[in-house]
Amino acid sequence: KPVVLNGKLLSSHIKESIKKDTADFIKNSGITPHLVVIYVGDNKQIESYIKAKKTGCEEVGFRFTLDRFSSDITEAQLIKKIKYHSEDPSVHGIIVQLPLPENINRDNIIQAIDPKKDVDGLTSINMGQIMVSKKPLFIPCTPLGILEIFKAYNIKLEGKNVAVLGRSNLVGRTIATLLSQKDMSNPSIMGGANVTTFHKYSKSYHHLLKNADVIISATGVPGLVKKEDLKKGVILIDVGINYKEDSSKKSGYRMVGDVDPESYEKSIAYTPVPGGVGPLTVACLLRNVLKSSILHYRIQCSRLRAGVENNIVDK
Ligand code: NAD
Repeated sequence: KPVVLNGKLLSSHIKESIKKDTADFIKNSGITPHLVVIYVGDNKQIESYIKAKKTGCEEVGFRFTLDRFSSDITEAQLIKKIKYHSEDPSVHGIIVQLPLPENINRDNIIQAIDPKKDVDGLTSINMGQIMVSKKPLFIPCTPLGILEIFKAYNIKLEGKNVAVLGRSNLVGRTIATLLSQKDMSNPSIMGGANVTTFHKYSKSYHHLLKNADVIISATGVPGLVKKEDLKKGVILIDVGINYKEDSSKKSGYRMVGDVDPESYEKSIAYTPVPGGVGPLTVACLLRNVLKSSILHYRIQCSRLRAGVENNIVDK
């Protein structure tokens, strides 16, 4: 029987440890970590993702602010808002809830976030560090969550064939980059895998999935990964969040992943949807916010120290 990679349970352990670290941090620094979510629009589904972030913040003792705008906000106005939060010393993490309305250029918006507060890891500085640095500052939360699963279940990827479906910065491209890294000196980032990426322009690739020891699917195409395409003993990491009509549910729909559940029987381990990667994304976001708060506190302390030293020198 395949092992269910229980993201929900793992995320509650991670949140417990963040809660404890946060209480210590607040006691020592007097600073409460503070996440700001910027959201344009009124989509019920997206609002449920924001709610999960808010609940997560409350659970671990963070401050949470939702800065919400209607879709007629202009790009320039939104950039001004982001700059405002970037400069506010009481804010430690800023995320822009995606997608944005079409009249707004997503890249311009993301690049307006101070990279030291970019807890989603999407600014070019943070993305670039993933390529070149042994210790990137912020890694996007879903790839981080996937790494947490591999670590917790002791899944070793060195020399393994990993197929990544999807190539967004948020998920596919980033996890593919991390897992294929040649420098494996940072134990919190796994490298050494033989990674192949597939995307919507990849042609008839499904037979190639038979080579994969691990499949990570982040496409938003329900049922894309099918039983007949898999080798026995594969590990399935399903990032997809899709909704199917289901009259037996109160909401009228049911959440499904990219992986057809019939595939599970071919695997040795799989992440369910819901309850797999999703909860870990939130837990890793909280970890990034705490990391950012500690970083800001250290910068503040070193400025103070430098000020005191300058005063002594001046005397
Ligand atoms: P995206 O739309 O930015 O990217 C989708 C990717 O899938 C693209 O690179 C596209 O080329 C690829 N794709 C489309 N059809 C394909 C096909 N037939 N075969 C292979 N690749 C194909 O989306 P995203 O932000 O990367 O999110 C992907 C999915 O993951 C969505 O369902 C999203 O809701 C979900 N998601 C889940 C979490 C989580 O916490 N579980 C977090 C982020 C995203």
